[in-house]
Amino acid sequence: MKLDPADYACPDHHTDLTSQVRDAIDEDDGTPLAYRRGLLPGTKAVPRPFEVIVTCPGLAGRQPHQLACAGTFTR
Ligand SMILES: [Zn+2]
Repeated sequence: MKLDPADYACPDHHTDLTSQVRDAIDEDDGTPLAYRRGLLPGTKAVPRPFEVIVTCPGLAGRQPHQLACAGTFTR
């Protein structure tokens, strides 16, 4: 899966949230499995918009908080 922007981080804590964004997209995605795997003939990978909520673990001693990340993804 290709993401645009390619990396996501919390602006406050500079924690890398990219893997969480990928997981959230996979959970939300209703795309049929065959399409996901590129098994359907004639299907083209087109960028699709997404917006997901991920949890930043925060800094030591601070509470985790949620953050919205948006962009496009291409399978
Ligand atoms: Zn944070």
